Amino acid sequence: MRAKTILYMIVVSTIFFSLQCKQEFASKAHIEKISMGIDDNRLINADQNPENWLSYGRNYAEDRYSSLNQITKENVNELGLIWSLNLGTRRGIEATPIVVDGIMYLTGPWSKVFAVNTRTGKLIWTYDPGVPGAYGEKACCDVVNRGVAIYKGHIFLGTLDGRLISLDAATGNPSWEILTVDTTKAYTITGAPRIVDGKVMIGNGGAEYDARGYITAYDAMSGEQVWRFYTVPGDPSKPFESKALEMAAKTWTGEWWKYGGGGTVWDAMAYDPDLKLLYIGTGNGTPWDRLHRSPGGGDNLFLSSILAINPDNGELVWYYQTTPGDTWDFTATQHLILADLEIEDRLRKVIMQAPKNGFFYVLDRTDGELLSAEAYTYLNWATEVDKQTGRPVETEFARYKDENVFISPGPIGGHNWQPMAFNPETKLVYLPAHFSSMPYGHDSNWKFNKGKGYGSGSGWNISVAFDPAKPFRFDQSAPSSMPKGRLIAWDPVKQQEVWGVDLISYWNGGVLTTATGLVFHGTADGRFVAYDAHKGKILWESAIGSGIIAPPITYAVDGKQYVSIAVGWGGFHGLSNKYTKEIRPGTVFTFAIDGQAAFHDFDKTGERRLLSLDYSTTQEENERGQTLYRQYCNLCHGEVGGGGGVISDLAYSNNEIFQIYDSIVLKGLFQENGMPNFGDRLDKQDIKAIQGYILQTVKSVKEKQSQ
Ligand code: CA
Repeated sequence: MRAKTILYMIVVSTIFFSLQCKQEFASKAHIEKISMGIDDNRLINADQNPENWLSYGRNYAEDRYSSLNQITKENVNELGLIWSLNLGTRRGIEATPIVVDGIMYLTGPWSKVFAVNTRTGKLIWTYDPGVPGAYGEKACCDVVNRGVAIYKGHIFLGTLDGRLISLDAATGNPSWEILTVDTTKAYTITGAPRIVDGKVMIGNGGAEYDARGYITAYDAMSGEQVWRFYTVPGDPSKPFESKALEMAAKTWTGEWWKYGGGGTVWDAMAYDPDLKLLYIGTGNGTPWDRLHRSPGGGDNLFLSSILAINPDNGELVWYYQTTPGDTWDFTATQHLILADLEIEDRLRKVIMQAPKNGFFYVLDRTDGELLSAEAYTYLNWATEVDKQTGRPVETEFARYKDENVFISPGPIGGHNWQPMAFNPETKLVYLPAHFSSMPYGHDSNWKFNKGKGYGSGSGWNISVAFDPAKPFRFDQSAPSSMPKGRLIAWDPVKQQEVWGVDLISYWNGGVLTTATGLVFHGTADGRFVAYDAHKGKILWESAIGSGIIAPPITYAVDGKQYVSIAVGWGGFHGLSNKYTKEIRPGTVFTFAIDGQAAFHDFDKTGERRLLSLDYSTTQEENERGQTLYRQYCNLCHGEVGGGGGVISDLAYSNNEIFQIYDSIVLKGLFQENGMPNFGDRLDKQDIKAIQGYILQTVKSVKEKQSQ
């Protein structure tokens, strides 16, 4: 090459380099450049870039552990607010934000996406996929979303109405959009997509309704489907989609496929790039009660299972079923963490999960061998997991066949979707656990409800009901003073609790842990807390004043460490319950050492007034109203006069609203907010009965208050 040409190339590249340097932070060119750089190599080596938070669980092991070390046990008490961003949303926020070189991407209710400049806390762009409000009815557990994925200049979003969308990371403009579900059924997407080797992995939910679970891989650039793996067999008179399903079908009886069967992949995934295995967790059966779903018994593979899948072709490599023949809504969709642990003098590649059923599982992730499983919370459906067979030993009353039985855990689980974290320094898993129970009974009147929304008796295909004709079994051995929530530091090798902190309620947030021995955790009662990871002592606490369900993240910009958390009370338990006086609109809070920003005020709900109307109704009408209320309203609005989370307690409707219930309930006046249009299921007489029941209940609430 001639010297002149070389000189020319040096000049050109120097100019190009200086132009690159002058790109303004958070400009289109800057974001294009940084987001284009997120490729497989960056995702595989996420641990080498602690300043970023590149994917849902921070890395493919999904351990939610950060090696950033500026915020320590010694200075964490100097943590203060740097900025907060009001997203103007009103429903639950379960999202883990991702951060790439100071640009944050997170999702809010109704699958909306927000791109934020973390230097200023200002929005760069927002994207609203326009999910129809009517879709809210198909979502069992609020209109939430847990986050996006980033890859080669694009942001990937799963929407509540079942679409997978690729957005330009710099502008938020859609590149492609694929419908991933049959919209005649109640499929929803709330989980974060994951990127593996150029493919976007996405599952969906809907096992409370009529879903047949599956996960699909799409080519990240073109959106073309690469493979789909169904988690439960379909109609056995038709060809099975895979060898694995042919085998699985032998573990089912009856006509399960007519109901969907369940087993949805609505949240957990992890990936081992060395073993080239994608791990997913599958959900409960549809309907819940196995007597209805698979009346001749059977394990019903692959419900409530951890599956290892070849990410190239979607073929099953191994499976481990946590709850064979699930009949309690014991999903195994809970957070999966990969780690290398020394167990009995051998370094084992493990996968860990604390599914709803109450046992903490440690498996060999190369082949699915059960290494250990012990109860992390109170449970009574099984006595142990047999180490030889790998199966739980069920108690004789667990399947509630001839009696109503109080089972622990209940459907909220010993642990739900709120992610845990694993710290390789302390070798502990930090687990937001529940102590829960529910009465289960076989509902002999259950009939399949095809794809129609809310209401325990009419909508959800849970098929579990208290039967007054049968005896009721209380659990005499249940501890009387267990807290509803508990943050547990769990030793996965010894399979025992090292420390735990009681919390006043269910439904606290996900967890983050750091190399400096800290654990960050938000609570349902509105506190953002930093604990000593070794001892559980509270080292710092900030009063957010609104319940927290999402997990925090940490990252660095310009060499400074930040901690951010998205706050938006809601989700399944938050619909009809709350543990703070007020609920803030969706807000991102960002903290750093010496932060001095003030907490913004927000519109308070104001003083609540009980309804002051009076209708004269008959006893018979009230009883009918109560039945209808429990079927159609209770799930979201909660008990009249005692409910109300992010969705209001109808005892406190204002009088004007109360008088237009016909338009709201029968004509869909508030459908865009997610209030279903029940016009096809209820009529004016029904509304009158429900109103009568509400007023009657308000009357007794007032009487109690005046006593
Ligand atoms: Ca479920």
